[in-house]
Amino acid sequence: MYRSGIGYDTHILVEGRALILGGVRIPHDKGLLGHSDADALVHAIMDALLGAAGLPDIGHLFPNTDPRYEGADSIQLLREVSRKVGERFEIVNIDSVILCEAPKLKPHMPLMIERLSEACGCPNVNVKATTTEGMNDEGAGRCISAQATCMLREKRGNP
Ligand code: MG
Repeated sequence: MYRSGIGYDTHILVEGRALILGGVRIPHDKGLLGHSDADALVHAIMDALLGAAGLPDIGHLFPNTDPRYEGADSIQLLREVSRKVGERFEIVNIDSVILCEAPKLKPHMPLMIERLSEACGCPNVNVKATTTEGMNDEGAGRCISAQATCMLREKRGNP
């Protein structure tokens, strides 16, 4: 049995924060604001995986009121989510898109894909990026957003 999932996240771009996307620190004059490292791409991927598995979202799993997750490395959280989802499912593939006006993300994609694949134990991870042609909050450089989908396959022997 196959199950698909969808995830979305957005974080505000501010000065004085590191920009981390897909577990990669990207040189930029601004970074994403959040309780954790605010890695919007990883957050979208985690919600896609949890959704496909029929589990509650990351806000439920890692509350932003919990001091344990302050400044958390989202890749570690993805590792935890993948372990949880992996109890019943194999991750077939993950696809994603980042909505970002600047900086250019293309040079960082191979490393993002490597980090994400390693963390979720799935060789089929895809990351894409698009600008929004200067429109919306992403286009104005006020935020960076991400969307993700995934496919899970139920492992044999599950009830
Ligand atoms: Mg988030």
